[in-house]
Amino acid sequence: MDDSYRRIPLWSNVSPEDWEDWHWQLRNRIYTVDQLRQVISLTPDEEEACAKKQGRLVMAIPPYWAALMDREDPKCPIRQQGVPRMEEFSIGPHDMRDPCGEDTDMPVPGLVHRYPDRVLFLVTEQCAMYCRHCTRRRLVGENHGLMSAYEGTFEYLRKHTEVRDVLISGGDPLMMTDVRLGQVLARLREIPHLEFIRIGSRTPVTMPQRVTPEFCEVLKKYKPIWMSLHFCHPKEVSPRVKQAMDMLAESGVPLGSQTVLLKGVNDEPEIMKKLMHELLKARVRPYYIYQCDMAQGITHFRTAVNKGLEIMQALRGHTSGYAVPTYVVDGPGGGGKIPLSPNYVVSTKEGVVTLRNFEGKIYTYYEPGAGAPEMIPAMAGAGKNGNGHKANGNGLHLGEPIPDYIP
Ligand SMILES: *Cc1c(COP(=O)(O)O)cnc(C)c1O
Ligand code: SF4
Repeated sequence: MDDSYRRIPLWSNVSPEDWEDWHWQLRNRIYTVDQLRQVISLTPDEEEACAKKQGRLVMAIPPYWAALMDREDPKCPIRQQGVPRMEEFSIGPHDMRDPCGEDTDMPVPGLVHRYPDRVLFLVTEQCAMYCRHCTRRRLVGENHGLMSAYEGTFEYLRKHTEVRDVLISGGDPLMMTDVRLGQVLARLREIPHLEFIRIGSRTPVTMPQRVTPEFCEVLKKYKPIWMSLHFCHPKEVSPRVKQAMDMLAESGVPLGSQTVLLKGVNDEPEIMKKLMHELLKARVRPYYIYQCDMAQGITHFRTAVNKGLEIMQALRGHTSGYAVPTYVVDGPGGGGKIPLSPNYVVSTKEGVVTLRNFEGKIYTYYEPGAGAPEMIPAMAGAGKNGNGHKANGNGLHLGEPIPDYIP
């Protein structure tokens, strides 16, 4: 068992049994500047932000996560996601309280029904760690009752036979006990038209001790249950997290990952590619990369959409297709997920589709019914050359990379 946490004075006397107990991890979360100071050297900005009241989204860092933080480097990606900064308290001109418009799509408190066949079921407000980039910070936090009117939700789901997919989220569903979570799963399984149940959680990443054999038994009992995890940086895929992923995978739980594009944390193609590779090695399939929402207090984490497109361009074709998630922007105000991709279509005209590949080389696809190249004005003079064509008129040549792939 890895006991490197013992190098940190605050935990030098903690037994491996306690460290491995998720209740111990929860009870011993870091809430105060004084505790945090014993783990890392705080910058004046961090000192000030930690001491300030953070509204609902208090600082709460499980010892496991804190031990992964770099003691000296405030830019450490693990540290930035857990330790507040003063920038959290400034609200930008476009920031919104409810950036994804979830509150307006709630037929029952705690149930978001936006898409035709699936719902988001918010079962708790609590999380193992409060991510400083949380988009749902208006709802998430400590010391509040359950947000969901469970009975109302089950009743709604029984009536709405068009719903076939339930995403259990929050907060973090893994903050519930195994018994409670089992009860929720049992109630959902009683509804015959619900054919796909998934749990969205970050706890296996921020506090992998939560993934116990007993928890895995609950997932097996109500199988098939899918899980969507939330990973932002390759450093999060630690040996301990890999062990948790192994347990979930061996329990037959298909694993996916959602990543938020965060400035200074993962907004580099190389970091993102490394994260995707680490996830695949742990049997986690990258599912989404989210553009950071326009939520209040997280503007300092936001980066340009072009940066996301550049990252997608660096992934597709350059690495395994399984390592390429879908990049989405949640349409502000309730538009739902809108997929964005670099543009690979150079032109379409009279059945002639001119495409560029991942290396920027040009290829032509003729749709059924397209005339011979010389019959098509757009293609007059285009020479055949392997499977690539010279596309006349737009200055593009076979094998010549297009510098600007973003329309
Ligand atoms: C993301 C989301 C879902 C699930 O969407 P998928 O694309 O199926 O993963 C469902 N409801 C809401 C409100 C969501 O934001
Ligand atoms: S785990 Fe999810 S819901 Fe909880 S604080 Fe982090 S981002 Fe927000």
